[in-house]
This record gives sequence, C-alpha cells and structure tokens, in this order.
Amino acid sequence: MQSVGEYPVIHMVPGPVSVPARILEAMCRDSDAGRIKADFIDEYRAVGGKLAPLMGTGNDVVLMSGEAMVILWGALKSCLKPGDRLLCVDTGVFGAGFAFMGESLGCEVKLVSFPPDSTINSAAALERIEGAVKAFKPKMITAVHCDTPSGTLNPLDGLGEIKRRLGVPLLAVDAVSSVGAAPVKADEWNVDILMGGSQKALSAPPCMGFAAVSPRAWDEMKTVGYQGYDSFMQFYRPEDGASLPYTPFRQGAAALDEAASIILEEGLENVFRRHLEVAELCRRGVRNLGLELFPREDAVNSPSCTAVKMPSGIAWPELRRRMTGRGLVVSGGLGCLDGKLFRLGHMGSQARADLVNQAIAILGEVL
Ligand code: PLP
Repeated sequence: MQSVGEYPVIHMVPGPVSVPARILEAMCRDSDAGRIKADFIDEYRAVGGKLAPLMGTGNDVVLMSGEAMVILWGALKSCLKPGDRLLCVDTGVFGAGFAFMGESLGCEVKLVSFPPDSTINSAAALERIEGAVKAFKPKMITAVHCDTPSGTLNPLDGLGEIKRRLGVPLLAVDAVSSVGAAPVKADEWNVDILMGGSQKALSAPPCMGFAAVSPRAWDEMKTVGYQGYDSFMQFYRPEDGASLPYTPFRQGAAALDEAASIILEEGLENVFRRHLEVAELCRRGVRNLGLELFPREDAVNSPSCTAVKMPSGIAWPELRRRMTGRGLVVSGGLGCLDGKLFRLGHMGSQARADLVNQAIAILGEVL
C-alpha cells in the first residue's frame, strides 16, 4: 500500500480510480503476437457483450485503445461534417466541451446551457431544450450523464423522448463516469452513441474507450465517410477472422473484460445500490462537517462523485496540501469550477464505506 509518511494513501480521485489486483493480473497476460489481429476479434466481441448490459443496449459495442476522449472525438468526427448542426445540452464542463469539439469540426453549434450546479430534471429544463431543438433542428444532440466536475447526474429519459418525438437523427451521450456506477439505459433513452471509459467506475487503467452504437448512427457514419485514425467505421462489425485496423491493445481489452466481469458477478443492482449508499454516506459526512454540497438542492447528485463547495477562509492549494499530508488524495475543480469546489470520487473500486469514512475523518481533522 502506498503511504505518505506514516499515513496510508486514501485514493478518492474521481478517475482514474484504484485498479483492483484482478484487473492488473488480467492485463499481464502475454499476446500470441503471430495471430494477433484475427485472433483478437473473438475477445473484442466478448468484451462488447459484457459491456452491453452495463450500458443498457442491444446495439453494437465499439472498443478503442486510448482514454475516454478518444471515443468522444471519434464519435463526433465519425458523425458530423462541417456545417452540420450540433445542439449541446450543457450542465457543466464536459457538456460545454462537446460544443468546443463541434466548433473545431466546423459545425454550427447551439449551446443550451444550465448552471453547472443543476441538472435537467425539471419540466422547465426539458421545455427549454425542446424549444431549442424545434428552432435549431440539429443533426445531433449531445449530453453528459454524470458531469463529473459538478458531481451531478442528468436524468436522460426526458431528453431521449424529445429526440424521438422531434425526429432528431442522433443523440450522443457521455456516460464516462456513470457506466458501471448508475443505471444506464442507452436503448430505452433513444441514445444513438453512448460512450464510456475504462478508468472510472470500471476501475481499469485509462487505456480504453467504448461506445454503444445504434443502426441509425452507423447509417450516418457511412454517409459521412470519415476515415481518420479514430473513425468508428474502422470498427464496423468485424467479421470472423477479419482484422481490426491497428495493432489491438489486447491487454487493455482484457482489463475491460475483467472489469465488466467483476461488476456482473456482483450483480448490477447490487453495484448500483453500493454506489448510492456510499454516495449518501459521503454527502451526510460532508454536511456533518458543516460543509456545503456544490449541486443545488433540486439537482440530482451523482452516485459516483461528490462535489463540495470550498469552505470560506481556505484556498484549494492549501486544503489539498493538508489533505495529501494526511494521505487523502481528492480532486479540485476543473475549468470554470477551479478553486470553487473539491471532489471525492467514490466510483467502482472506491465506492466503499470504509474509504469514505476515513476520508471524512481526515477532512474533519484538516479543516
Ligand atoms: N467525460 C467525463 C464526464 C469525464 O469525467 C472525463 C474525465 O474525467 C472525460 C469525459 C474524459 O476522460 P479521459 O480523461 O479519460 O479522456
């Protein structure tokens, strides 16, 4: 176990999270280099099959080597051409990030922004989105399920219903820090591309991105014909004996396979309950210390990450110094939230009551 002086390290960063020994061991297997590509297809499909229930999908699952941004960029580049209309539902750093990506691809972008401490769980929020979709007529809507920097979780059933009713071609969702921590229902929510990453609730290293892709999304991708390194089309339904475009990261796929197996063995409902209970414990502990949660009262808190407003009279660098001095490693605010909050990540291997209790005790000591 790592330590800071006499103190063991309590790792509570909201990704990458601590990697369990089973996953590390799964990654250490050697490859049969001679047959590496064709041989890999079976493993590729098996991993997709295990990830599908975590994403609530019967659609194809694409795996790519790299951390989660690879799959986010690949999805947008594969679906969008310059001039296409992209409507980004923004309740935080990653919600707004989609707009930046769309602009850099030459898309016409409409941001529908909500404060970063809120979620789209009200009729008023959905009405605003619906009005914007009717007026803008986008090709794609983007949204973030858990906007990790805010510690919030956007319910997506209402948004998916708007997409269906108004006939928007594509809905793309960043579920990077909710897959494996909260119920995700890509098909039920009419999500065409639902994206995840290996290093959040899956508890694997930051080495793989994955996505559930609907038939409609494949159709759009075929029309766009993007051919770059991160093109989804390179991964379109590999046949038996076929090879994927590049040298596959077999150990990364093995890590994802083991990660999904661990979750399925525990049982999805048990995993979700564990996350909810630990998150509730964390919020209670934070409030008992007299601290304030960042999400507003009527927002939905994430079961994977708790965002706490910076207490007055202390700046983040000093609070971080005190916490790390006692072995507690958490994250600060990202982007526009820098200096305003800090975050405890309790997803995957870190969704443990004992870790949260230790973290809260240390926080109480250093404040
Ligand atoms: N999306 C969300 C919601 C995230 O929290 C993160 C990382 O924190 C990412 C995307 C990007 O993930 P990565 O850093 O693995 O590329």
